[in-house]
Amino acid sequence: MTIKEYVDMMLLYAYEKGDREEIEKWTKMQDKQEFIAWYKRPCSKCGKEKPLSEFYRDTRKGYFGYTSQCKECIKAKRRREYRNKKSSF
Ligand SMILES: [Zn+2]
Repeated sequence: MTIKEYVDMMLLYAYEKGDREEIEKWTKMQDKQEFIAWYKRPCSKCGKEKPLSEFYRDTRKGYFGYTSQCKECIKAKRRREYRNKKSSF
């Protein structure tokens, strides 16, 4: 499911409930930047809950086209790999 599909679905649901606050919220979320700054999920590596903006884009896989590991964890992994490569020379 894409972010747009998800937001559209939640907006439709809010309209069905007639919940004005929810309608306002999800109307705002139609702006993708709002959504990725708001929507939180746990990183598969460190387990910390972070907004989608703290994850890298990955259109091939992952949740809403974002990596399952947060930016910090991926950066740390890259640093480790770089160090390992250097020490093997
Ligand atoms: Zn992490």
